[in-house]
Amino acid sequence: MLKTHSCGELRQEHGGQTVTLAGWVNRRRDMGGVLFFDLRDRNGKTQVVVNSGRSQAAFDVVSEVHREYVLQVTGEVSQRPEGQENPDLATGAIELLADEVVILNPAKTPPFLIDRDEVVDESLRLKYRYLDLRRTRLQRNLTIRHKAVKFIRDFLDERDFLEIETPILFKSTPEGARDYLVPSRVHPGKFYALPQSPQQLKQLLMVAGYERYFQIARCFRDEDLRADRQPEFTQLDMEMSFVERDDVLDLIEELMIGMVKTASIVPLAYEKFPRLSYAEAVARYGTDRPDVRFGLELVEISDLVADSAFRVFAANVAAGNPVKAICVPGCGGYSRKQLSDLESLAKEAGAKGLAWLAIHPETEEIRGPIVKFFSVKQLIGITERMEAKPGDLILISSDTELVVREVLHTLRMEMAKRLGLPKENKLAFMWVIDFPLFEETLEEGHYAPSHHMFTAPKREHIPLLDTDPHAVLSEQYDLVCNGFEVAGGSIRIWERPLQRKIMELIGFSMEEAMAQFGHLLEAFEYGAPPHGGIAPGIDRLVALMAGEPNIREVMAFPKTAQATDLMSDSPSEVAQKQLDELHIAVVGTPQVESG
Ligand code: ASP
Repeated sequence: MLKTHSCGELRQEHGGQTVTLAGWVNRRRDMGGVLFFDLRDRNGKTQVVVNSGRSQAAFDVVSEVHREYVLQVTGEVSQRPEGQENPDLATGAIELLADEVVILNPAKTPPFLIDRDEVVDESLRLKYRYLDLRRTRLQRNLTIRHKAVKFIRDFLDERDFLEIETPILFKSTPEGARDYLVPSRVHPGKFYALPQSPQQLKQLLMVAGYERYFQIARCFRDEDLRADRQPEFTQLDMEMSFVERDDVLDLIEELMIGMVKTASIVPLAYEKFPRLSYAEAVARYGTDRPDVRFGLELVEISDLVADSAFRVFAANVAAGNPVKAICVPGCGGYSRKQLSDLESLAKEAGAKGLAWLAIHPETEEIRGPIVKFFSVKQLIGITERMEAKPGDLILISSDTELVVREVLHTLRMEMAKRLGLPKENKLAFMWVIDFPLFEETLEEGHYAPSHHMFTAPKREHIPLLDTDPHAVLSEQYDLVCNGFEVAGGSIRIWERPLQRKIMELIGFSMEEAMAQFGHLLEAFEYGAPPHGGIAPGIDRLVALMAGEPNIREVMAFPKTAQATDLMSDSPSEVAQKQLDELHIAVVGTPQVESG
């Protein structure tokens, strides 16, 4: 080793010892005849004092070094003079008196400072990711990630799970996104697909009798780009045999609590995860991944406005659509401009307009363009139902159920942001269960699975598949934390006739099904055990535990929101020879918007 200790290790008790450290020059200060600098490595920083009186040679070397030079320093550990200790630094009680300094490697001036937490343009950070990774923020985040994954491995190992790798070059997996395709050179015109998840393979492992499987699995989905999405991401992929829903939920709950306690810098809000049915979640929050750390819940007022003079509401209710609202405390004094901003937001979410009622903080008078259409009794009815107080603002949406949900969910999140809610950052996990088996809207005339096509309907709902498929609830469960879906899974269909029936409903012919995953259907005929699984998303969980808003902050080498790698400049063009070998011709390359 080129060093005896790390830069974060030395304490008072090492005083008098001769040690060798190696690392990067953090910052150098020249005090005339004495040079000071911090030497940094992943474990911390140590102050080095270079006194020409002690070693002229060391002084001469250090006179020439700059920020980020790689040095090896040998010297004596010394207690810092009284009053000069640095309580903010783990090694702040000591300093290293340099006797010998070797420049292991010089460095160019970095494009941003490594040792300060100042805001740096993200594209610059991504281009020089290896320098960004030297900074404490990412070191902290990757350490949390390591601890979380290690905890998961140990926890599952203790519970008799086997970690099994599955192929990256595989076949299309039906998770609903577009596949990344890999052309086969040896089979011209044929393609592998990168797995969107190891879904089929983990189910095959259950057929194979492995009973408890997990994998820290990389998944690939060629989805439409969004700010916080990555084309490749990591999930804890799991599957278990001979289990029922609650076995999976209880195990994951214990795993999450242990993981947070071991790795997280953001604490748990509580330890028993609440369970909400899908119906309740969308009714109260407008979404199936609610942030339950604050109220502002949706309240239905259809019955109160059904026969009001406001025709939009009356007509909507008559057509069977809802009128719902949220009550925002303290925003009754909003200006016309603030309200029209909210209306724009509502329109982006699909609304045709935004109705509101504001209660004056002192006079308690109710204002708003729609007030004149309501009787005093109706207005009192609404404010009472909304539990609105003087100074509050009631935002109302009326449209189809789906639009109302989306609009009020958007407004709820926006108003929480404006009110600074939640006040404290904690991790509020909850389960959403009892999902409908199919999406509410048909896709090309067929039912669309709300999870994936291997998710089992509730046993008692199987007869409804013939009469009212939309009423069928499934054995799907999602784990939600602070408004993010952090895991999704289900108890699976393991009998072939039931699988066939579901496929028919979603418009999959048996031939198509056989071509895409005949291997799985065939396997189910060789004694498939009842089984189920789940897949928590590692990136999002680590981001939440690190208090980071974006999953890029917890990935060593992420891509941009445009799915590009700014450091290696990928995706990139390839040599014609490579294309020829793959029998691929690139025809027409439409310009992609950059940014
Ligand atoms: N394969 C699913 C997913 O990636 C998870 C599961 O059903 O276990 O979302």
